[in-house]
Amino acid sequence: MKERKNVWGNAGCELPDGKLCNVCCVLAEVELVGESPKPAFSPCQYLGENGEGCVIHKGLRSKMCSDWHCSSVGTNFSREIISGALALGSVTDDEARNALENLMGDMESSSLVEEKMAGIKAEASRLFNRINKTI
Ligand code: SF4
Ligand code: SF4
Repeated sequence: MKERKNVWGNAGCELPDGKLCNVCCVLAEVELVGESPKPAFSPCQYLGENGEGCVIHKGLRSKMCSDWHCSSVGTNFSREIISGALALGSVTDDEARNALENLMGDMESSSLVEEKMAGIKAEASRLFNRINKTI
């Protein structure tokens, strides 16, 4: 089966620097098996320390966790993932801009990319405050 490319253009959950992304495990409300859902804008309790990713054995994750991947979400949520990664300090501005350019395609003008990038950075600032209220 062909490997799905994530928001960063990489396989699986790899960030541009090769580390694990984990952004959706912070931003999204997520169903957990036998527990209340993980709230949105809050790091999942099952994220390991030092960026090691989910520590639950794959077979014990909820269907939502097993099935979901950012390769199949729309543009708006992809942009939120980029904002979330900036808010979490997981990517640099240049890495965020590259992901945005890939999302928008080659036909878009550089001024439109910069306009969208400004929106992504403003959203990252809002998300930073929201996430840090819950930590
Ligand atoms: S947003 Fe989620 S599915 Fe996409 S690369 Fe990041 S951790 Fe993986
Ligand atoms: S259970 Fe694992 S995959 Fe699911 S949200 Fe938590 S850390 Fe992410």
